[in-house]
Formats: sequence, C-alpha cells, structure tokens
Amino acid sequence: MYDLAVVGGGPGGLTAGMYAGRARLKTIVIDKGLYGGQMQNTLEIENYPGHRMVTGPQLSELMFEHMQGFGAEWKQAEVIGVELDQQVKSLALSDGTAIQAKAVIIATGAQPRKLGVPGEMEFAGRGVSYCATCDGAFFRNKEVVVVGGGDSAVEEGVFLTRFASRVTIVHRRDQFRAQPILQERAFANPKIRVIWDTVVEEIVGDAKVSKVMVRNVKSNTVSQLPADGVFIYIGYLPNTEFLKSTGLLNADGYIATDAAMATSIPGVFAAGDVREAALRQIVTAAGDGAVAAMSAYHYLESLS
Ligand code: NAP
Repeated sequence: MYDLAVVGGGPGGLTAGMYAGRARLKTIVIDKGLYGGQMQNTLEIENYPGHRMVTGPQLSELMFEHMQGFGAEWKQAEVIGVELDQQVKSLALSDGTAIQAKAVIIATGAQPRKLGVPGEMEFAGRGVSYCATCDGAFFRNKEVVVVGGGDSAVEEGVFLTRFASRVTIVHRRDQFRAQPILQERAFANPKIRVIWDTVVEEIVGDAKVSKVMVRNVKSNTVSQLPADGVFIYIGYLPNTEFLKSTGLLNADGYIATDAAMATSIPGVFAAGDVREAALRQIVTAAGDGAVAAMSAYHYLESLS
C-alpha cells in the first residue's frame, strides 16, 4: 500500500514524486515510457528557470535523479484501469499487477493531435513526423513542410532549418498563435517561408513522402508542395483514455482542478498538461506537481 501513486513521469509527475518523497510519503511514480515525458523529445529548452539552455534528455535525467534521491519509487508500466471512488484507490497495470494507494496524482500529459488526412498514417515514420528533435536530422538538405501556427510549429520550424534546405510552414489562418519571440526568429530566417490560410488535404508519396496537397481556404485553390518530410504540430490531446468512466474529464478530455490541484474525487489530484489550464509549459507542470504533492500530503494528514 502506497501513500501516493503518481501516474505519469513527465515534469509534473517527477516533481510531484520529488516533493512527496521529501515529505516522507511512500510514493510510486508510474509511466508507460521513459521518464521525462515530452521533454525527452525536446532538444533545447531555454525557458526553464535556472537553465539558460538545457537539453530535454538532460533535464529529464536531472529531475528523475532528484526524485529518486528523495526516495520515490519508479515503475515502468501502463495504467489501464482505475478505481478511485473508495478511500483506497486501485490502479490496474498492463503487466497484470495492481497498485493500491491512499492518494493519486494524475500527470499523464498529452500527445500530438493528428491531422486526419489521407497519407498521414500511411507515411508515419516514412516522412511524416510529430518530433523534429527525433527525426529532423533525416532531412538534411531536403524540403520539409511544417503544419500549424502555435509555439511548437514555429519553434520546431526554426529548429528544422539546421538540417533542411527549406522549411515551409503551412498555417490555416493569416497569423501565428506562437509567442512573438518565436515568430521573430521564424520571420528572420531565410530558410523559412510561410503559406497562410492554407490547410493540408493529403500527404502523397511512394515509398516515402514526396509532396503535400494543400488548399487555400479563402480562394479554395488546391496546389501541391514538394516535401520530403511533413512535421505536424497542431496541438495536443490529453492522455486520459483510461479515465473515461471516472467523471473527471471535461468535454475535451482534460481534467478540471481547483487551485490546490484537487479534482472532483477526494484524494485524486492532477498536474501538468493533462489539466485544464491556460499555459502548458515544463515550469507550469513542475509547479502543478509541487502543489499536487503537498495537497496530497495534507489530504493524507486529514485521514489520520
Ligand atoms: P497549440 O498552441 O494548440 O497550437 C496549435 C496550432 O495548430 C494552432 O496554430 C492551430 O491553429 C493549429 N491547428 C489546430 N488544429 C489544426 C488542424 N486540424 N489543422 C490545421 N491546423 C490546426 O499547440 P502547440 O503549438 O503544440 O503548443 C501546445 C502548448 O505547448 C502551448 O501551450 C504552447 O504555448 C506550449 N509550447 C511552448 C513552447 C515554448 O514556450 N517555447 C514551445 C512549444 C509549445 P489556430 O491558430 O488557427 O487555432
């Protein structure tokens, strides 16, 4: 029996584990993948306080060691079912085992949203990618198309100019949603061109991607863009499939919490990108994790 089970090992979950361990709670952090979550797919992080520049894998390692240093356990497994309504919570894991805990923090984050156009699934891993850090180097001196207009599309578009001969950002509106500093970098980069008011209709190729069919939403004109790679950055979907029957999710699948990170179920808290929030950053996930862990600590104190 654990005092606290944390589901998800990104910055929110690792920070929650670190704070809970330091508060001497018997804590386990469970993730289906490698610790660090989306940080592992980010090459350079320049907006985590105290680090002018750190790589995603480095920051993941630092947070993981920090958490373990305070005694929280780590387990690699997928949580496939939950029973949260009783005082003792139960998590069913993919390896057939179950974890019992008096409090639970959900920090499962989010995953890239798919475009849903023909060719996207067929060419995944053969030109279609959701991770420039992972796959950018395959496109040295090649043409790539980036889809989206938020921080991710613009930042990763600039990153891809390190490899690609040309980066074309295709955005459905006539202005970016991305932060001004990222937009300035994109507009100043001679390898970047932006195609506004345009959506991708199909990704075409043979063994690998060769072109993208696009449609201007104002003129309805369809045209083609040569492309060796297509990087899709159109937002994220919360990883909350396993919570569908709990009543914790809003219409978009995110978890609503109060300022103490408490959900509508006593003893269940949420932290990071999985939460209904205006800003989703590593630092906000870490902040959420700290608050959630201390709220869990106070909740557990109230039980005894
Ligand atoms: P986002 O902010 O949700 O932006 C998604 C972009 O994709 C928007 O420009 C949106 O267009 C477009 N889009 C959505 N659905 C689409 C569709 N079906 N077809 C075509 N375009 C579509 O997602 P994000 O850029 O991945 O960022 C996610 C979060 O991470 C944000 O909170 C962001 O601030 C944060 N982030 C921060 C940094 C940083 O601080 N350096 C870096 C990366 C991400 P519209 O604009 O028309 O809605």
